[in-house]
Amino acid sequence: MLQDNYKKVEEHIAAACMRAGRDRSEVTLIAVSKTKPVEMLREVYEAGARIFGENKVQEICEKYDKLPSDVSWHMIGHLQRNKVRQVIDKVALIHSVDSYRLAQEISVQAQKRGLTIPILVEVNIAGEESKFGISADDTIQLVEEISLLPNLRIQGLMTIAPIVSDPEDNRAYFRQIKQLSVDIKNKNIDNVCMEILSMGMTGDYEVAIEEGATMVRVGTGIFGARNYSNKA
Ligand SMILES: *Cc1c(COP(=O)(O)O)cnc(C)c1O
Repeated sequence: MLQDNYKKVEEHIAAACMRAGRDRSEVTLIAVSKTKPVEMLREVYEAGARIFGENKVQEICEKYDKLPSDVSWHMIGHLQRNKVRQVIDKVALIHSVDSYRLAQEISVQAQKRGLTIPILVEVNIAGEESKFGISADDTIQLVEEISLLPNLRIQGLMTIAPIVSDPEDNRAYFRQIKQLSVDIKNKNIDNVCMEILSMGMTGDYEVAIEEGATMVRVGTGIFGARNYSNKA
């Protein structure tokens, strides 16, 4: 069943790329496996998934050794500074950097291990109070500040769009953050590239792809609904 879900999402991604005149290779699917047991991750791995997205440090640490080593783990959730140390050598990309202080801690821990960590800056594009992320207005300044830190590389932006029943309602937000990433790219800031735009979830990833997403983060569409009261 999970394999069918995964194939369906793949098909929808391919169709959205086609509509947008984009090559399928321009969009990377992140299978968001938070709260799901490793058996389910293995099934989705068998279907072809190689990148899993998690939002808790503890879950990454628990699952890390239980999947094949060609899996990459992406941290997509709010990251506390005191937990950076535990995940820094396990994650291929941190999507959720939204403050200078967090970036600084990642930089310090990366230096200690001789790593260079790819990161995205999380933008609260709709200005929702309930969400993490820097405001669109403050993004360029934060990117400039973080770009000076050693052992980090800013590879793009990430956003979590509002929960809507009609994905079309998020199209304008996706367009806005795409424009923001183009504006930043045009500034040619040292140590910053804007090749990744992480946006779009189960409800709206097709619209996000049409508006330029290069990474989509799909959980429910692959793994089914999450049950937070009965966590694995
Ligand atoms: C949970 C989560 C997702 C996946 O959401 P679905 O609606 O289940 O696809 C994507 N991105 C982030 C940051 C998440 O926390």
